Amino acid sequence: MIDMSRPDIPPRIFCVGLNYKAHTQEMGNALPEQPVIFMKPTTSLVAVGEPLKLPKAQGSVHHEMELVVAIDKLGADIPVEVALGYVSGVTLGIDLTLRDLQSKLKQAGQPWELSKSFDGSAAIGKFIVWTAQSDIQNIDMRCSVNGKQRQQGNTREMLFPVAKIIAFLSRHWQLLPGDFIYTGTPSGVGPLVAGDRIEIESPQIGRFSWDAS
Ligand code: ZN
Repeated sequence: MIDMSRPDIPPRIFCVGLNYKAHTQEMGNALPEQPVIFMKPTTSLVAVGEPLKLPKAQGSVHHEMELVVAIDKLGADIPVEVALGYVSGVTLGIDLTLRDLQSKLKQAGQPWELSKSFDGSAAIGKFIVWTAQSDIQNIDMRCSVNGKQRQQGNTREMLFPVAKIIAFLSRHWQLLPGDFIYTGTPSGVGPLVAGDRIEIESPQIGRFSWDAS
């Protein structure tokens, strides 16, 4: 888990669910009409080089590879046209999900937090500086487990692009410098077990890996 004394702990970690059509379909959900938002606490974060400890005896733990953006300015009611001006950095991360538990919670109409927001549920790569010159909606990414590819996607496949997500979030929360946004996962999610090595990679961002235990 991240050393909480470090200065780069974000104020909030926002996450978007069901933001890629193929993943939404593999989950058996209808396409959302507006972004599906949940949050993780800062104790969810697992930096590169830290152990990825999976919850035990709570059913399957799935990996969701995601583009993560960092916000660097205060902003409320941000117009979509200028929203990308609030992004300072991008990286890849993994939204770990207790899938069996999430299915039960969904069926019961209950919130997802127990399945999504546990300690150690948000692996985070190293941020690179993002400038408006590079196209945030054309980032390739791949996820492999023990050397076998599981997920592959491009941010152009997002149902709600990053600018729309930022505009939407800023209507409900004032965005704060340092906030992270996990922007949803492409299809191919699957189980991770102790002993697995997971690697996430983007030619535009870098490559990060963790050993699950
Ligand atoms: Zn996710």
